Parts: sequence; C-alpha cells; structure tokens
Amino acid sequence: KGAIDDCSCSVETIDSFNNLKIFPRLNSLLHQNFFRYWKVNLKKKCPFWEDDGKCAIRYCSVQPCTDQEESKITTKKRDKSQNWASKSTGSNLNIVEVETYEEIPEGIKGAVTPNGIDKSQSLDMKSHMTVSDCDTENALGYLNTTLSKESLDGFERWAAHDSAQDSFCYLDDESSVDSEYVDLLLNPERYTGYVGPSAHRIWKSIYQENCFKPTQSFRPYADFRNIGELCLEKRAFYRAISGLHSSINVHLAAHYLLSDKNGFAESKDGVWGHNVEEFQRRFDPELTGGEGPLRLKNLYFVYLLELRALAKAAPYLESLEFYTGNEEIDSDVRKAVEDLLAVIQSFPEHFREETMFTGGLQATKLKEEFREHFRNISRIMDCVGCDKCRLWGKLQVTGLGTALKILFSGNFDQPLDQQLNLSAVKQTKFQLSRGEIVSLFNAFGRLSRSIMELDNFRQEILR
Ligand code: FAD
Repeated sequence: KGAIDDCSCSVETIDSFNNLKIFPRLNSLLHQNFFRYWKVNLKKKCPFWEDDGKCAIRYCSVQPCTDQEESKITTKKRDKSQNWASKSTGSNLNIVEVETYEEIPEGIKGAVTPNGIDKSQSLDMKSHMTVSDCDTENALGYLNTTLSKESLDGFERWAAHDSAQDSFCYLDDESSVDSEYVDLLLNPERYTGYVGPSAHRIWKSIYQENCFKPTQSFRPYADFRNIGELCLEKRAFYRAISGLHSSINVHLAAHYLLSDKNGFAESKDGVWGHNVEEFQRRFDPELTGGEGPLRLKNLYFVYLLELRALAKAAPYLESLEFYTGNEEIDSDVRKAVEDLLAVIQSFPEHFREETMFTGGLQATKLKEEFREHFRNISRIMDCVGCDKCRLWGKLQVTGLGTALKILFSGNFDQPLDQQLNLSAVKQTKFQLSRGEIVSLFNAFGRLSRSIMELDNFRQEILR
C-alpha cells in the first residue's frame, strides 16, 4: 500500500491502471507471433567464473523451436545488411523456402541484429566491475574545475563518444550458430527448483558487485537499508534490480509446482498454481523483517520505469511494421500496439527520468558508470545455471536495458510526434533491434502480470 519511493505515484493507482487497462491488452498482444518468438543464445559460457553445473531438474529445460537447423542456414544466407523492421525482410532473402518452417513465421526467421552488427562483440569489458560511491562524482566535479581546457575537451569528446554507444546490454549475436528461437509461450516463466548456492551466487554478484551500495552494510549482501544515503540515480539502479528480482520471485510463487507427474498430477506436465506460503515466506513483513513490502514496492518502481520508456518511445514504436509475413495479422498487431501505447501515454503520473543525470560532466560520468554496471549484469545472465531461468533472466534484463536505452540515450528527449523529428531519430545511429523490441514488451508484460498476481495473492491471503 501507499506511495512508491522516488516516484509521485501510489501502489493503488498502478494496481487499478495495470489490472484493468494494461494487463488485458498486453497479454493479448504477447500471444501474437511477432512477440512470442525470441532468438537467444543459451549456450554462452559464464565470463566470470567456472560454470557450476546446469540444473538437472526437467522444469529447468528450454524447448527451442523445431526448425532451428533451417533457421541457422537461413541466417547465414540472408543479406545481413537488411533491417528487420522493413517489409523487404523475408521477400529478398536468398533462401531456399523449406516446408519445415511451420512454427516461426516467415518474416521473423533469420532475423539478425540491425545491419548485421554483432553487438555482443563490439565492446571490450572489464570482467568484474568495482563499485565506487558518490565520491567519484565529487572527484570528477573537482577535476572539472581544475583540468586544463585541452584535457577537458578531450574528456568531453570521450564522454560524447561513449554516450553515443547507447546500449545498456551486451546483446546476443543472433547470427551465431548457438542462437536459437524460443517460443516464449511454450516455455513459461515459473517455478523451476533453481535454488541454493548457484542462484545465490548470481544475486550476490548482482547486488554486491554491481549495484551501488550504501557505505554502511551490515549483512553479507543485499543490505540496502541505508539506501537513503545514495543519490537518486544509484537508488534507482538498486530499485530496478530489486524490482526485477521481486517479479521473478512472484512468478515462481504464482506458478509453483504443486505436484509433479509422479505424484497425484492431473496433467502430464504436473500441477501448477499459487503457493501462498512460498509467497509469504518471501514477502510477508513479519517473516522478512519488514523488507518484503519494500521489495514489492521496487516491483512497482521498475514497472513505472518501463511504462515511461514505452510512453517516451511511442511514436517510434508506432512507426514499426511488426512484420511477420501475414499482412492481416500484422495490421491487427499494429493497431493493438497503437491502442496499448495510447493507454500508456494517458497515464498521468509517469516516472520523471529528466530529473536523473543532470549536472554536466559529473552526470555524464555517472551515467556511463550506471550503464557499465548494467551491461555487466547482462553478462552475469550467462552464468545462470538453469536454462529456463537464464532465458527469462536474459529476456527481462534485455527488456529493462532497452527501456534504459530509450530513457537515457537522449534520442527521445524532443517530442517525436512530428514526422520530421521521428525521421531524424531514425536517421541517427539509434535503432532498436527486433530482439530489443520483443524483450521490451515481454519484460513489461512480466511486470504487469506480477502486479496482477499480487492482487490474486492479496485476495487469497485475506480470504
Ligand atoms: P533469493 O531469491 O535467491 O534471494 C537471495 C537473497 O537476496 C535473499 O536472501 C534476500 O536477502 C535478497 N533478496 C530477495 N529478494 C530480494 C529483492 N526483491 N530485492 C532485494 N533483495 C532481495 N527460480 C525459479 O523457480 N524460476 C525462475 O524462473 C527463476 N528465474 C531466476 C532468474 C535469475 C536471473 C536468477 C538469478 C534466479 C532465478 N530463480 C528462478 C531463482 C530464484 O530467484 C531464487 O534465487 C530461488 O528461488 C532461491 O530463493 P531464496 O529464497 O533462497 O532467495
């Protein structure tokens, strides 16, 4: 209940807006072919530590689409310079049409990142980022006033160059033979049994090494009780990650394995449903020392952040084709996207990203640090030891990274409703790949469903 920290909005406002207006529209949209197939590489090696083994439970596995072999051949043969968003994608492909293409629609198969750029290879990264505190910004403020004009110009050029690299994520190389299409509807996010040291290592690395921590930490990790010490941007970073963590844990409690097929299962796939005890163990104020509700509020925070990104990029998103090769369906999808975005834009209490990263050079440096930390988290997803969790972890981090890219790239800061402005944005380096668009909508869909599930848990607990 009540106000959401660092936002001017309340839980109650979002509950009614989401559950009545957003969730039904989004849920139906995410069932459309354009949004249900996502190409992902689940075979990448963990860049930070030796893989500590894959989860052997069968609910951890991911079933890729059946026509992968053909898809790989297609990917190699297609002209990589084509933009996925264009209708020509598909028709100009130098491929042998194969009858085995049943699942993945014609317009989607073989898509690679825009212009064929393998974004995942384009930057070199330090393996583990170290975390500095607000002192860094103060130090930069000092540098700002003491450096010679010449070196300052150099630094500004560097900063400008770096901020041109808009992406907050290391994206998978979609043309890699290890990248495969996954049908997200056939591989739903739910309880997998991925628990213990491997899962904890991921969360620990994210919070301990990649979030900006308050100086006073009492527990081994994830101790953010003194978050008020941090500046807004660093608080926002933590809240976004914590909100994503809450969302994942709400989903696993809402789609819990209540019995498996060797027990008294009613379907061959087991019986799935709400596990109220599991939900309470994670979020009940008394069982979590008061932290559960704060973590749930962070879910609302990250929801508002992605909502705002969709609103901000609405004119750009409305101009896309959402091409799958079926003109009638594609036209319906475009109308549904337009309808959803109109509702999103009508929300009166949007997150105000313009209050973040203000203040010249210090802000530019802080933004770069923020981006590097988030990029690092996108690489940590390759260390998740359960394929299903890795799939949804990668998708949601990519979606959140896409939202951050929209909010902070600067490309959408001017109103885009005029055709002129829109084409100016499209002519810049700024682009969203099909993978980014699909992940953005699906990540927001996860948050939207989590908020809806909270209402179900609330009613079950009160009953
Ligand atoms: P964890 O959720 O592992 O949390 C570890 C510690 O972090 C807690 O002890 C607490 O101190 C702190 N913490 C917990 N929640 C928050 C929060 N919201 N904000 C801040 N701090 C917090 N399991 C599935 O069954 N299905 C999935 O699809 C799935 N996807 C996953 C995806 C990723 C990327 C990862 C890393 C894990 C995933 N898991 C999934 C595992 C799941 O998130 C938990 O790690 C697991 O259920 C063990 O839970 P736990 O109670 O030990 O605490």
